[in-house]
Amino acid sequence: MSDIAVVTVKGMRRWESGHPWIYRSDVSERPNMPPGVVQVRDNRKRPLGWALWSPRSEISLRLLDSDPGATINEAWWQGRIQDAFARRVGLDSVTNAYRLVHGEGDALPSLVVDRYDRWAVVQMMSAGLEAFRDAIVEAIVHVTRVDGILARNDVPLRSKEGLPRETVLLHGDVPHEIEVDEYGIRYIAAPWTGQKTGAFLDQRDSRHRAGEVARGTALDCFSYHGSFALHLARNADTVIALDSSAHALERAKQNATLNGFDNIEFVEANAFDFLREREREGVTYDTIVLDPPAFAKTRSSLPAALRGYKDINLRAMRLLSPNGILYTASCSFHLGKALFLEMLESAAADSGRQIMLREIRGQSIDHPEILTIPETGYIKGALLQAVD
Ligand code: SAH
Repeated sequence: MSDIAVVTVKGMRRWESGHPWIYRSDVSERPNMPPGVVQVRDNRKRPLGWALWSPRSEISLRLLDSDPGATINEAWWQGRIQDAFARRVGLDSVTNAYRLVHGEGDALPSLVVDRYDRWAVVQMMSAGLEAFRDAIVEAIVHVTRVDGILARNDVPLRSKEGLPRETVLLHGDVPHEIEVDEYGIRYIAAPWTGQKTGAFLDQRDSRHRAGEVARGTALDCFSYHGSFALHLARNADTVIALDSSAHALERAKQNATLNGFDNIEFVEANAFDFLREREREGVTYDTIVLDPPAFAKTRSSLPAALRGYKDINLRAMRLLSPNGILYTASCSFHLGKALFLEMLESAAADSGRQIMLREIRGQSIDHPEILTIPETGYIKGALLQAVD
């Protein structure tokens, strides 16, 4: 059995340029072993380091350690998770729920660990990583002392790795509902059934920021469990939490009650239609939030997605009262930062309004974005204000 992978010059260059993935076509000699860790060598057989090996995936190798002398054992996983934990020091003063490991952004490719209070939810998204499941669970428990670990391994990506899609308990117990405290706002995360690992942690700081600047009449358009709406309700007089899912709004209502807010109205509607109708009626809002789902799930759907993004942004701009605030975001990886801003410029131009760019925003700091690994960054946000 060979546990060595030999890569082409192109493959080696990828690592040199700071990206951990090597594709199948750049592996000239494939290891003859099941998923796990392999030593990687260049075309002259010089060792380059260690990588996760996924025989069935298009992404064959994911760099773990560029030190050929490293040993990938339990202590190694503990060390990397400890480093990630140390980078989040201070976050616990603003929240009890944060991303502890953001995959490639924390030099732990294909691993996501979200901490919810005394529990953790993990996603293991490669076959190579899955081979270290027990060591990773041990390491998380050792570093965080959590009471339970749930694997939300139900993501479609796992099929490409030849892995089953499942939600399984890996350690202790994990409740179905966990109360999150986010800058003093409380909401319920649903680790077993909610989107992602139970909540959208990646917009935490922008939710807080939107809450700080909110005033008057506010509208939160893709509200899900109401997380933006809750923050807006602190400073706005009235808030509409809008979502097309009645189920999501049920949760949003519970969350409003949990915080004692009685100034939030819940509206089940299609945001596109709602915005269009309000525009026709000449209604305005002092604060609007647009945090839609990813319209561009693939590169080929980008043109249609851009039309969708422009449509909602253009209409939201028109609905702003004088000096009204708009926080707008996109979580489509395929829509890059430059294109996002271009789309907003184009929407502003067509809106007939004078729109000021107050802040360019990104994902919360517990979702580290590495410049040489574009896949680690996906959220673009902008805080805008109508100045006419
Ligand atoms: N802002 C939320 C996350 C939003 S997720 C947070 O910070 O937690 C996207 C939400 O948009 C989902 O709840 C989904 O039900 C809703 N949605 C999708 N398409 C919609 C549409 N056309 N109109 C209104 N809501 C929509």
